Amino acid sequence: MAKRNLVFIGNGMASMKCIEHIVQKQSESYSITIIGKEKHPAYNRIKLSSVLQKSESLSQIELQKKEWYTTHDITIQAGETVVHIDTKRQCIMTEARQNIPYDKLVIATGSSPYFLPIQGVSKKGVYAFRTIDDYQAIHADSLRYQRAAVIGGGVLGVEVAAGLQIRGLKTTIIHHTEGLMQRQLDETASELLQQQLTRKGIQVKTSAHTIACLGEERVEGVLLKNGEIVDADLVVFTTGIRPNIQLAKHHGILTRKGIVVNDVMQTNVENIYAIGECAEHKGVVHGLVQPIYEQASILAKHLLGEQITTASQPIYSTKLKADDMPIYSAGCIETRSPYASVVTYLDEEQEVYKKLVFERDVLKGVLLVGQLEKADQLLQDVKVGRDKSVVMKSLNEEPSSPLDTLKEEDLVCQCQNVTKGAILKSILIHQLTNLEEVKKETGAATGCGGCQELVRACCQNASNEQTEAQDSFCPCTNADEQSIFSFMKERLPLNVEEVRSQFDWTTDDGCDFCREAIPYYFEQFHDQPKKDSFNLSEQEFTMIPQLYGGRLDLNFLQMITTLLEQKLIQQAELTEKKRIRLIGVSEKAAHILKDQGQIMPIERSRLSHILSCDCRHDPAVTTLVIEIERQIENTLLPAVTSIHVTGPSCTCQLSPIDDICIKNQLDEWNIYIGGDMRQPKAGQLFYSVSRKSELIPFLKALLEDYRKRAYFKESIGDWLRRNGSISIREKLLDEEMREELCEQFDESRQKGVKV
Ligand SMILES: Cc1cc2nc3c(=O)[nH]c(=O)nc-3n(C[C@H](O)[C@H](O)[C@H](O)COP(=O)(O)OP(=O)(O)OC[C@H]3O[C@@H](n4cnc5c(N)ncnc54)[C@H](O)[C@@H]3O)c2cc1C
Repeated sequence: MAKRNLVFIGNGMASMKCIEHIVQKQSESYSITIIGKEKHPAYNRIKLSSVLQKSESLSQIELQKKEWYTTHDITIQAGETVVHIDTKRQCIMTEARQNIPYDKLVIATGSSPYFLPIQGVSKKGVYAFRTIDDYQAIHADSLRYQRAAVIGGGVLGVEVAAGLQIRGLKTTIIHHTEGLMQRQLDETASELLQQQLTRKGIQVKTSAHTIACLGEERVEGVLLKNGEIVDADLVVFTTGIRPNIQLAKHHGILTRKGIVVNDVMQTNVENIYAIGECAEHKGVVHGLVQPIYEQASILAKHLLGEQITTASQPIYSTKLKADDMPIYSAGCIETRSPYASVVTYLDEEQEVYKKLVFERDVLKGVLLVGQLEKADQLLQDVKVGRDKSVVMKSLNEEPSSPLDTLKEEDLVCQCQNVTKGAILKSILIHQLTNLEEVKKETGAATGCGGCQELVRACCQNASNEQTEAQDSFCPCTNADEQSIFSFMKERLPLNVEEVRSQFDWTTDDGCDFCREAIPYYFEQFHDQPKKDSFNLSEQEFTMIPQLYGGRLDLNFLQMITTLLEQKLIQQAELTEKKRIRLIGVSEKAAHILKDQGQIMPIERSRLSHILSCDCRHDPAVTTLVIEIERQIENTLLPAVTSIHVTGPSCTCQLSPIDDICIKNQLDEWNIYIGGDMRQPKAGQLFYSVSRKSELIPFLKALLEDYRKRAYFKESIGDWLRRNGSISIREKLLDEEMREELCEQFDESRQKGVKV
């Protein structure tokens, strides 16, 4: 059978998606021709913002390589504009007077940028931001000029302004309403966004109406309605788009706001279809790729004679494409309905804002600023219409990976319609190991890129599963750490035998690791040390006396000297932590020492000593160290944990390489976590408190959370990295939870067995 001519007008994102679907089916039915006005092969228009912000290059945003068109025998005529459609003879004509016959014609002409109808928009230096040509012109100007104005503070305007600022232009956004991105954000979120932009050096003028572009041949500024002039050598209009419907309209195809199509994307003229931003379906013209890709898929199926399942009502989400401004909105954040209820959380200092909008107690919309970890989970909740109680509970629950909240059939990539199941299956079948491979194989994360982290998590998840399968708790069992941890914590076994039989232990007396780990878990979760452990050998009496703040007193020194002279202690040495280690301590000496205060046996995973920086003697720091030490001493922790405190007068500029480092800088107490002295590696700033009185409760809550959830010998830094510092911080920022953890910490210390 002869191939039928399938012709596409427009080489944009909608056309490409439809063609990709068709060639994927290896259909021999059509000979495909694309006529595109732009001289470039099809590219990911969405990513132009990232190119302007220098986070991607033009070559990275090509949708397909040249060979792809050749392989699939697709004729592409780039740089050609279709000017005429002869619907009777079924043929189109291009500006270069080329006639191309068609059996099926797809109009996918997209939209054109809308310029305000004001004076001066045709001056040199005035641009829209829609095409590679626009980008190249703006890029060239950015090398020569210093000042830019962006007219329109919607998503695109903010992204363009961020790009211009990165390119070194002094940039001003001029926006006509009171708040930026008013379609996606509410007043509070707009204000936070404005603060972030201002801090980056971008000036923002809201409720400002541009009435002219000034200058001679080239633009020199814009005039606002209030008489103010904003100087600019470069002006970018991001004031909206209008569907390209003229071609269709002039040739008898029904148009309203867009080209009117039915459920299979067919226009009122036989064999002519429309998809993308130029199409109007059920009265709606879309301006986002997700519904447009759905249209492309429906049309491809129709052209191939496949069955079409009507799409579910999509839930739209927007993530601002600017790395350092995490802003996300999904669903409907309108609160006008009488059945609407709203839950908000605002931390102005950290610039974190969360808003959940419910209608009749069902989640309808989400707005997140500053912390987007729960975005995917919440989008899913909006999609399935999750009940308020469930949403709120899951928000407060132990943070789980957003991936865990998705079912196999849930979409990970909204733009490309790729489900979690499809990604995981592809990883497994094709042995994919990284994000790029998954992108290439599944198409996920190749649209707006908003799901990139989720796709990465799929790779991680798959590789973790493989590693976890290999990583057993210790050589004596095949069970993994998580299984044993959960069993010990939740089932509270009565004795070691129970643990051994549950996990098919292969040895009677365990190995070096489990001989320590199992008693630790018993003690941690039962608050009682378990004596009936594996056949433990006699404990070695090596002790480190508690010296609060590292201070020595005369009585203590005299006592140690006497015990050494009497050979009740074999040896005393200084540790690198400025403490005294006593080796070969006899039972009698141990009793004497115990009577003098707290003694730490070093084989236990207790809080190690808290050190004050000794570059300058600061009595205030030493006092604080003593206070911390007294309040949190003798805490059983998963791993030996060192804390270091430095004061404002400290001059040593030490990197925070201890597990926890508290630095008193200016009026703040900064807490760094996750340093590693062995590597050595500096910890990350985790939190700051402005009052000293908040410091110890915060530390207690942190240690309690760590104590309860970390594996044996897992350092606090590793624990933080495994669970995600943001989710842990989020928990500790909740006053109620922090207080609860703090109380539990005190309770367990009181119950805890003093050594
Ligand atoms: C900078 C930027 C960022 C964006 N970010 C996002 C985002 O984060 N998320 C999101 O969902 N969407 C985003 N969008 C919108 C998204 O890019 C569009 O919805 C999508 O490109 C529309 O696809 P389309 O094929 O309908 O139109 P287009 O991709 O515009 O393609 C239409 C093509 O048809 C050509 N054409 C027009 N008339 C003719 C003619 N007579 N003859 C031949 N060719 C013709 C045009 O030149 C154009 O190349 C963004 C858009 C821009 C510009």
